[in-house]
Amino acid sequence: MDSHSHVSTDVLIIGSGGAGMYAAIEAARAGASVFLLDRSLIGRGGATVMAQMTVAVALGEETPDHWSHHFKDTLEAGRGLCDERLARLLCEEGPEVMRQMDDWGVGWARKDGHITQAFAPGHDRPRCAYVDFLNTGPAVSKTLRTVVNKTPGIRKAGDLLVTDLVRDGDAVTGAVAIHLATGAPVTIGAKATIVATGGLTRLYRRNSASANMGGDGYALCLRAGAPLIDMEFVQFFPIGHLAPRLIGMDPIMWDPFRYKLGGKLLNARGEEFTTRYGVSEDGRYVITRDLATFAITKEVEAGRGSPHGGAYLSFQHLSEQDLRAAFGPVIDRLAANDIDLTRMPVEVAPIAHYQMGGVIANDRMETSLPGLTVAGEAVGGANGANRLSGNAITEALVFGRRAGRSAAERVASMNSNPYRPQAARPALDLIASATDRDDINTAEMIIALQATMSDDVGPFRTKEKLVRAATRIDELTRALGERPAGDGHAFDMRTLDWFDLRNMLSVAGIVTSAALTRTESRGAHQREDFPGMLPEWRVNQVVTMRGGELHMTRQPVALEAAAQ
Ligand SMILES: Cc1cc2nc3c(=O)[nH]c(=O)nc-3n(C[C@H](O)[C@H](O)[C@H](O)COP(=O)(O)OP(=O)(O)OC[C@H]3O[C@@H](n4cnc5c(N)ncnc54)[C@H](O)[C@@H]3O)c2cc1C
Repeated sequence: MDSHSHVSTDVLIIGSGGAGMYAAIEAARAGASVFLLDRSLIGRGGATVMAQMTVAVALGEETPDHWSHHFKDTLEAGRGLCDERLARLLCEEGPEVMRQMDDWGVGWARKDGHITQAFAPGHDRPRCAYVDFLNTGPAVSKTLRTVVNKTPGIRKAGDLLVTDLVRDGDAVTGAVAIHLATGAPVTIGAKATIVATGGLTRLYRRNSASANMGGDGYALCLRAGAPLIDMEFVQFFPIGHLAPRLIGMDPIMWDPFRYKLGGKLLNARGEEFTTRYGVSEDGRYVITRDLATFAITKEVEAGRGSPHGGAYLSFQHLSEQDLRAAFGPVIDRLAANDIDLTRMPVEVAPIAHYQMGGVIANDRMETSLPGLTVAGEAVGGANGANRLSGNAITEALVFGRRAGRSAAERVASMNSNPYRPQAARPALDLIASATDRDDINTAEMIIALQATMSDDVGPFRTKEKLVRAATRIDELTRALGERPAGDGHAFDMRTLDWFDLRNMLSVAGIVTSAALTRTESRGAHQREDFPGMLPEWRVNQVVTMRGGELHMTRQPVALEAAAQ
């Protein structure tokens, strides 16, 4: 299997969510040739297209606002761990990308000519823009896809799974991929490579994202030599849909209902219970994600959970007219699922949703490796220990734009493509070494890993659980072995599973060890055996790979003052 296709480009972008597509547009407009690839369909495979809700930006059209207020709220939610330089960029440049998206025709909801913004917990004023009705992410993706299609200089390819970055000397010079339909290897040589592969929630059994979110970008960058930060902070979305069965709708769709209408979180006895955990909601929506996750989990543990193991969310105090006025056609889509909110509550429970940690980047989105830039959820640190609602799409767009610009600037400073075929040889050899093994069942191993992460590395952790998880991850890693499963022919899912598991196990191991080392509770990382937040732990944990070995160190938080 030594023959492979080769693509040469100025800028390679891995992942075509909001971050990747924005980066592609920006780099191409600056004159670079761009190759935008995705393991799924272009613009349809990641979290961006699934995000039906809101984008947090200080536009101040209805209520006066300034990016500095958004910045303050972001830092507060991040519980002292935000990389303040990145958080500032997100807040300061958010309004520009929102207006650019508006010019491109995204269709932000408006009232009296002003972009409407809803209130969400943790924000000090209404700041979350949206596209009615539950259409924000699809509209963002469609708008970017349209602009990508109209922008000269962007080539696109779906169905390409990147298995490794190509590192040559100190620099990254491209990537190696498998064409999923044929099983054929593909090499891509690039002057600049942008990793925009999104998050890692597929590591968990119950998660809000697609099957493509197995943490590939973190593993790719780490193996190439770029360090990761804050990997212990996995955000659980507290009110993910649990029951009754809901088809064709966003599992976290209840958030916009709560933005607009409040709604009551109730336990099995019909009591509003958040006061027990220090937050009086009283039918309103004021509780932050980490506290709501804690409150629901504790009610379930105390035996006061709903039948499927969560809490009830009730809008029964509202009339059908109120619900229709707020959600129009969504009410009919719920009716098609036999859900009538005036007559019944739904059941909700925490669900893995977003990764605060990720690849370390500077304010140009450059990593420590020349030629390697990151964007979107793949970047770590902007949101610290806990992310505010709506900040992730802003992050994808702002960081995507920055990454595209700095990649194009690098390209402009280079005379020739630095890719040399020999640097891709190890990654190609690995693909070629696939064997028809029957000693492992990769599909079962993915299920086993998800069970371990959900049961032992969920929102509430103890040393005992984390050690058990680390042991299980080691066992699964040994079983996976060094050679891919599969026969090298088209449509062999074992090969895809093997490469997915390689990344998932590596990233799961890192989340687990970072969680074990952090002996305190902060934001999304709650240690039941270390319940308090400790001042000495106001540091970021950094993971590096050297000679195949992982190293974990601590570093002071990057403060905004340092960037002045
Ligand atoms: C259901 C849901 C609802 C959400 N709602 C909101 C919201 O209302 N507001 C908000 O701010 N945030 C929300 N988020 C979070 C937000 O959507 C994401 O953080 C953001 O969209 C990430 O954008 P991205 O471009 O970084 O990654 P993504 O949009 O996830 O795109 C990553 C792309 O990379 C591709 N990829 C991954 N690995 C590889 C590989 N090895 N080779 C090739 N391609 C690869 C994937 O197929 C995917 O297309 C939500 C998330 C989910 C899952």
